[in-house]
Amino acid sequence: MDVDQAIAKLTRGVPRKPARTLPLAEAHGRILAEPMFSDLSVPPLDNSAMDGFAVRSADLGQPPVRLSVATTTFAGDPPAGPLGPGHAVRIMTGAPMPVAGADAVVRVEDTRVVAPTDGGEQVDILVGAAPGGFVRRAGEDIRPGQQVLPAGALVNAANLGLLASLGVGHVQVVQRPRVAILSTGDELVRPGQQPGPGQIFNSNSFTLLGLVRECGGLPIDCGIVLDDLDATRAALRQAAAADVLITTGGVSMGERDWVRVALEAEGAQLQFWKVAVKPGKPACFGSLGACRIFGLAGNPVSCMVGFYQWVRPVIRLMLGDPRPHLPVVPATVSETICKRPGRAWLERVVLDRDPSGGLLASRTGSQSSGVLSSMSQAHGLLLLHRESTGVAQGERVSVMVLDWSFLHSREPDYGW
Ligand code: AMP
Ligand code: MG
Repeated sequence: MDVDQAIAKLTRGVPRKPARTLPLAEAHGRILAEPMFSDLSVPPLDNSAMDGFAVRSADLGQPPVRLSVATTTFAGDPPAGPLGPGHAVRIMTGAPMPVAGADAVVRVEDTRVVAPTDGGEQVDILVGAAPGGFVRRAGEDIRPGQQVLPAGALVNAANLGLLASLGVGHVQVVQRPRVAILSTGDELVRPGQQPGPGQIFNSNSFTLLGLVRECGGLPIDCGIVLDDLDATRAALRQAAAADVLITTGGVSMGERDWVRVALEAEGAQLQFWKVAVKPGKPACFGSLGACRIFGLAGNPVSCMVGFYQWVRPVIRLMLGDPRPHLPVVPATVSETICKRPGRAWLERVVLDRDPSGGLLASRTGSQSSGVLSSMSQAHGLLLLHRESTGVAQGERVSVMVLDWSFLHSREPDYGW
């Protein structure tokens, strides 16, 4: 099976998690479960964009013009009463315009206050004004009834502020899928423990913990299970209470690879496809009750790449993300890569800006599926199609970007 086909099968009919209500501040980083509409105008009233004088623009036909200052309005004050001909209201930025009459603001810089007389305070307006000048209209930003955010929008910093500006105190966000992580292997010990001869540290549980969290899931660490059928069955049964279960290792043809057998014994619906891709094999997919199961390979790189390919889009769909797939961008390859047709290759690459403003992709040395340091360096996966026989240096390729940090710069980079 091709990668595309496998992804299409895995992502078909993935249900979105239900909504839950959160106080606005706690919704940061979550996805909106429903569209948000405004029931008010932003700004709520016509108000001044400048410190100055609210005027009737028709009064200023031939500046300078002397006007009587009726009153002063500060931000937070109620609007002044109707403005009669020959009058002005001293007004501060953000203060409401008078209820009627005034249709423009003249900046304080374009006025001169006249010494007070018995007739009250007066001001000379030195310039003309167009109707609407320096006035922020009620509803200019948002009108009542307007949809401000669609369902599926990320509640980022700007959207937190936008919702706050509408007076929204609570929002409906999509619940985070619970993702159980189970590592299998007699050889594994927890970091911090003393490995015996032949033992290695369990790293997959940690990469998966990070990957699940980074894509918005709620990881549940189910620890390590030994390569024993009964123990594996028991661990799977417990872990399948989650929305998603990821296992690592024990899924190939070894004599102590129990994951498939144990899943079948527990009544899981299993699909085991030979997906024509490297790395990422072997893997099995299925479900146990409502839990979606991903039996990923034990090799640390296969495990990570398998997560990006198979698991991440499913978690994002459960979160209600309308764009559940990672971005793929064009790049130029820095070296010739020879390939045998038959399987797609996902090559770990470092990315850099090339002099023409595009991206340059260079392989991270060894592409062995056990070399986790190559994943640590990689910014992306260079995608070589199943039938490809390789690419020549300088050729254009597609790269799935996992990490954009290479675009950040040490010094300000405005390009001025
Ligand atoms: P397996 O698929 O169980 O045969 O594992 C394949 C390879 O991945 C073996 O070299 C394992 O030692 C290694 N491996 C399996 N699980 C983990 C893990 N959780 N952390 C690090 N390496 C692992
Ligand atoms: Mg194993």
